[in-house]
Amino acid sequence: MAGQADHIMIIGAGAAGLMAARELGRAGKRVTILEARDRCGGRIAPLSADEFGYRADGGAEFVHGEAPVTRGLLGEAGLSLAPVNGARWTVRNGTFARDEMPERNTDAFYRVLSELTSDMTVTALLDRYFAGPDFASLRQSVVRTVMGYDAADPDRASVLALRDEWMHPGRGELGRIVGGYGALIDFLLAECREHGADIRLQSSVIGIETTDDGVLIRCAEGSSHRADAAILAVPLPLLQEIALPRPMRDKVTAAAQIGFGNVIKLLLRFESRWWTGIKAADLSDLLFVLSDVAVPVWWTQRPTEHAVLTGWLAGPPTSSAAQLDESQLIETGLGSLAQIFGLSLPQLKAELVAARAINWGNDPFSRGAYSYATLATRRAQAELASWDGGAILLSGEALYQGRDMGTVEAALSSGLDTARMLLGD
Ligand SMILES: Cc1cc2nc3c(=O)[nH]c(=O)nc-3n(C[C@H](O)[C@H](O)[C@H](O)COP(=O)(O)OP(=O)(O)OC[C@H]3O[C@@H](n4cnc5c(N)ncnc54)[C@H](O)[C@@H]3O)c2cc1C
Repeated sequence: MAGQADHIMIIGAGAAGLMAARELGRAGKRVTILEARDRCGGRIAPLSADEFGYRADGGAEFVHGEAPVTRGLLGEAGLSLAPVNGARWTVRNGTFARDEMPERNTDAFYRVLSELTSDMTVTALLDRYFAGPDFASLRQSVVRTVMGYDAADPDRASVLALRDEWMHPGRGELGRIVGGYGALIDFLLAECREHGADIRLQSSVIGIETTDDGVLIRCAEGSSHRADAAILAVPLPLLQEIALPRPMRDKVTAAAQIGFGNVIKLLLRFESRWWTGIKAADLSDLLFVLSDVAVPVWWTQRPTEHAVLTGWLAGPPTSSAAQLDESQLIETGLGSLAQIFGLSLPQLKAELVAARAINWGNDPFSRGAYSYATLATRRAQAELASWDGGAILLSGEALYQGRDMGTVEAALSSGLDTARMLLGD
């Protein structure tokens, strides 16, 4: 019975795996962590402070809303959360508009949402209730949010799950950890080490077998490891790539019912915050700018003064850029900025100090950015997160069944829940 397990192997040193490891270590369990990359953190991916002037985040960046587990951990770590402020601007054909006015059909949209009793996809909702030409701009705005914010496919995304997210007060509140998400990972890692965890980097697991007394885990580089139980805390798409015993293999087929979207994130550091001086509008308060160009969303580091713009392309449109390498993505990003701000490419390039572009769909240990709910997701999550007392448990952001899907909060909560389940708490 794995509940009495003494030695636990955790596969994946992202937020979920590290959180589970810390909890188990604190309870006196022997913990080994196998991580495929040469670093911990997974989709929390700090970039070099030398390059960007601060520890920029190539993956998760914001703390959304209440996030109780994240905030609790920040408190323990003595880390602070800085509120993000500034204005959201929309640009069309070179004209900037401060996005203060709500879309005129917003009330009708929320009324329909609040009265909805059965689930449907976002596309089905828009087709059924908002089909006419009067609603064209509402439809565009909803689709843009679903793809841009949730990285989701409107043809698959569940309206009831999104309603929870959209109608929850405080959802839009954003904060950034001072020192970046990397500081939170540093803290978790130090805690894991303090409780004796053995962390093995560059250990890519390719198969897990159950044995009479636990599990046998094989890694791509040839090593194998025995333990009493294993927690598989890898991103959802990776579950399909690891050879598992038959019952577990059947169980993980449920993962197909959970949406998993992609994001391409670009970080461009410039000599100065040139956007505050452009003629088209007074953008001194610019936080987000939304547009219709190839990389449509950009944000600044307000309230700090780092001269960095972050570009964001998410959801199904990322497939059109799947073949582009990093330098081509950076070129595309600069082209988008040139269009948005009415500047020439050489002008922008002359200002550029450092640039990174990460297509998370092409990352072999992530294969996408984060999960979203389809009509069948809640049932699939319950199935995947459940435990029959066997030697393999699953964990990770995609298995979290609360409102904050696709976040670090989801990963930390899932890791904690999995460890507590194993401990019988
Ligand atoms: C671009 C981007 C922006 C985001 N922005 C935000 C944000 O602003 N706020 C927010 O809250 N969330 C954000 N997220 C989501 C957040 O990063 C994730 O939900 C969270 O970090 C997932 O943690 P996890 O532990 O479940 O998975 P991961 O962090 O992916 O950890 C899984 C680990 O498993 C490892 N692994 C994979 N395969 C193997 C294998 N075969 N053997 C061994 N190890 C393996 C991986 O290398 C990884 O380290 C963002 C994500 C992305 C990609």
